[in-house]
Amino acid sequence: MNSSRVPPSRGIPSAYRGQDLASLRNRNLDVILRAIWEHAPCSRTDLAELTGLAPSSITRLIKQLQQSGLVIDVGKGKSTGGRLPTLVAPDPEAGVILSLDLGGSKIRGAIFDAADQLIYSLEEPLRGLGPKIVTSQTLDFTQRTIDQSRIDQNKLLGLGVGVSGRVDIETGEIVESYNLRLKQFPLRQILKEAFHLPVYIENDASVASLAEWYYGAGRGQEDLIYLLISTGIGAGVIIDGQIYRGKAGMPGEIGHIVVDRLGPICLCGRRGCLEAMASRPAMLRNADLILSHGQDPILSSMLDSENSTITLEILAEAALRGSTSVQAIIENAADHIAFAIASIATILNIETVIVGGEVIQELGELFIKKVEAAMTKYRQRDQKLDVIQAELEADAFLKGISMFTLRDVLSAQF
Ligand SMILES: [Zn+2]
Repeated sequence: MNSSRVPPSRGIPSAYRGQDLASLRNRNLDVILRAIWEHAPCSRTDLAELTGLAPSSITRLIKQLQQSGLVIDVGKGKSTGGRLPTLVAPDPEAGVILSLDLGGSKIRGAIFDAADQLIYSLEEPLRGLGPKIVTSQTLDFTQRTIDQSRIDQNKLLGLGVGVSGRVDIETGEIVESYNLRLKQFPLRQILKEAFHLPVYIENDASVASLAEWYYGAGRGQEDLIYLLISTGIGAGVIIDGQIYRGKAGMPGEIGHIVVDRLGPICLCGRRGCLEAMASRPAMLRNADLILSHGQDPILSSMLDSENSTITLEILAEAALRGSTSVQAIIENAADHIAFAIASIATILNIETVIVGGEVIQELGELFIKKVEAAMTKYRQRDQKLDVIQAELEADAFLKGISMFTLRDVLSAQF
């Protein structure tokens, strides 16, 4: 066992106490799967130390994982006085999981084996919006990912999807996704009928928040808010190691908090939502406006007839070169984000906010510093509020979906 890599107290969240039995079982499955993936080969005693689970729970969980074929005995470890302990490890041959990330502008897919290793990944822009196109592209893309990866389709244990929009995890329906132009869209049913597999569906920001909490920037925290800033803006809230859903998945709707009553019309029909003020399309739209008025020589000089599309990278560069109008665009967006973060953190009494998504990946430190600076205006005087950059990149997010899908598949078997 290689326990020196990650200190147990930070590496694996300790066993969960309280809440209902199903949540407890899911949480313990998450914990033991991660421990085995990160530290195998390891003994039951190692796993008890790493996870904080009782030895009897470890024995029962390992037995279940062995029965499902996911974990195998791989020999004996060193004696610590008594009998030689049996070491267990994941069996990569046990099957694969296909993860999908259905975002506001592209679809990504990845296949992971049962030892959590990436086998294949694929990405493409969305061809269009609305139920018809999203259905045909999702089905076609999923089949292509399977075919091109050359895995044996019979080895697929389940499909998992992280989706931009409000999700009903009981029915597997997308309740509403403004970015994808979907309403009451039965995604789980569509995928189940096409592939005859268990399907796990979750809001993308919720998956990211849980993944960051398990093995990203949120390790060791009790509670956190994760803000996903991309084509849309969503949030995942973790309280006591659980996704906090509120009524009808409302925390994720942070993107549609009105932050400027006179702002531009949002996809949801209201005016001045956070998403209409601070998402990537909002920033790019503002930059286009400046450019079309010929007001910014620095930004104009960075674009020519061959390279005429503004990107966030170009905005970051223009801000560094001293463009005050681009700096104002970024500052305004950061200010709105800081206002929303401070409000939700104050209401939920949470001290850690992780920010991630394409805007953060592309603007990085520059944007986070602006958010932190603006935050001083909005937080309470004694309020502790840390803004941290997300650690998990695209593949790790898909890995999160894969882990929770596998956990769901197992949980239904046990
Ligand atoms: Zn809105």
